[in-house]
Amino acid sequence: MRLSRYFLPVLKETPAEAQIASHRLMLRAGMIKQASAGIYSWLPLGYKVLRNIERIVHEEQARAGHIAMLMPTLQSADLWRESGRYDAYGPEMLRIRDRHERDLLFGPTNEELITDIFRGHVSSYRELPLTLYHIQWKFRDEIRPRFGVMRGREFYMKDGYSFDLDREGALHAYNRHFVSYLRTFERMGLQAIPMQAESGPIGGDTTHEFLVLADTGESEVFYDAAVTDIRMGARDIAYDDRAACQAVVDEFTALYARTDDTHEDAVFEAEVPEDRRRRGRGIEVGQIFYFGTKYSDPMGASVTDPEGHRVPVHMGSHGIGVSRLVGALIEAFHDEAGITWPEGVTPFHCGIVNLRQGDAATDAACEGLYAALAAKGLEPLYDDTEERAGAKFATMDLIGLPWRITVGPRGLKAGKVELTSRRTGESEELSPESAADRIAQIY
Ligand code: ATP
Ligand code: MG
Ligand code: MG
Ligand code: MG
Repeated sequence: MRLSRYFLPVLKETPAEAQIASHRLMLRAGMIKQASAGIYSWLPLGYKVLRNIERIVHEEQARAGHIAMLMPTLQSADLWRESGRYDAYGPEMLRIRDRHERDLLFGPTNEELITDIFRGHVSSYRELPLTLYHIQWKFRDEIRPRFGVMRGREFYMKDGYSFDLDREGALHAYNRHFVSYLRTFERMGLQAIPMQAESGPIGGDTTHEFLVLADTGESEVFYDAAVTDIRMGARDIAYDDRAACQAVVDEFTALYARTDDTHEDAVFEAEVPEDRRRRGRGIEVGQIFYFGTKYSDPMGASVTDPEGHRVPVHMGSHGIGVSRLVGALIEAFHDEAGITWPEGVTPFHCGIVNLRQGDAATDAACEGLYAALAAKGLEPLYDDTEERAGAKFATMDLIGLPWRITVGPRGLKAGKVELTSRRTGESEELSPESAADRIAQIY
């Protein structure tokens, strides 16, 4: 992409309404624009990051054997009356009436809708296990929308629903999600710690939240410092292998890590040596639930078991805050000058800064680099504008691409361009060809 033809409305001033770094930086970098309270337009740069996160979520769900689909945003109130949640959900639910006086709602979550789909099409245990998911906009009329996309009213969520014959099967589905979520967040460059939590209006008593530690997080958390040393890393998991999934879950849940809803001082003090006790704040980026037959019972979602009996299916639901993750990532990756995207989610693979726009040799070198990177399947953002070098660097630092290639007449005389890491600020002089090769190796 050439910056001269892109839409990147960066702001010079720091917006007064933004209280935390990610909100400030998303506005300044031209990633989002507020449409109304807690509702945002995703401008091109923000949209790219959102799509990158979404792609990683899809890839990891596919790996775990979960099946993508798409359900609508508007749902019939009647379905929610069947489960009893139409009244129970409260004022966070946006209720709508159509011209025929039918009650609709903008879905805050999809247990009822998916259970309805399931009961209409599945009737035998032979069709299980089954996990269906979608990534779709949700609406919750949050009493205090704030921090930009972190607590929006309209937000983008991956929500998956598992159907199993029995509790053991459903707990395996729970564990598959646990493992796939760990992989998902790590691929984005994020450490999200699974913590024992409370289930809230979704229901059930087996649940974990995944939290990114950050001072600006809205959840209070208590944990053993040693949990921050555990990683999934490159290990490959056979998702159908119950014992293998359970082993990962056991490893990640052996040490104390709880949100304030489930925290108990006595247990904390008994289990965690004093020097490892940590109390901090976290951003909830995902949560998984096993709730048994809470929806399948009242809604009549049952299958015949091997003995021919009809039994309600055991269900779980599993969410990732896709749009919140954009904010969470920036909370984790920024400095004084702007965002410092990890390679996994960066909106462009690298930037190219032309220090002397209009100088024939410099323009040609930039064009050559641009073509060479594109030929390697990479997408650079080429600053081909007439701005001063200082302003170009400031914009690149603000939008946070992990790598910048700077091209100027002086360097080119020696056959060199400069490759700079956004994260460390370290630079290296090398030929344009080597710079392109280096970027290709990184991705
Ligand atoms: P919170 O405690 O932050 O209100 P929640 O527990 O109500 O979130 P879940 O029902 O568990 O949310 O939804 C799954 C995920 O969706 C959450 O883990 C979070 O990442 C995301 N999410 C929930 N509410 C919002 C919101 N208002 N804005 C952005 N993302 C949200
Ligand atoms: Mg909530
Ligand atoms: Mg919560
Ligand atoms: Mg939650």
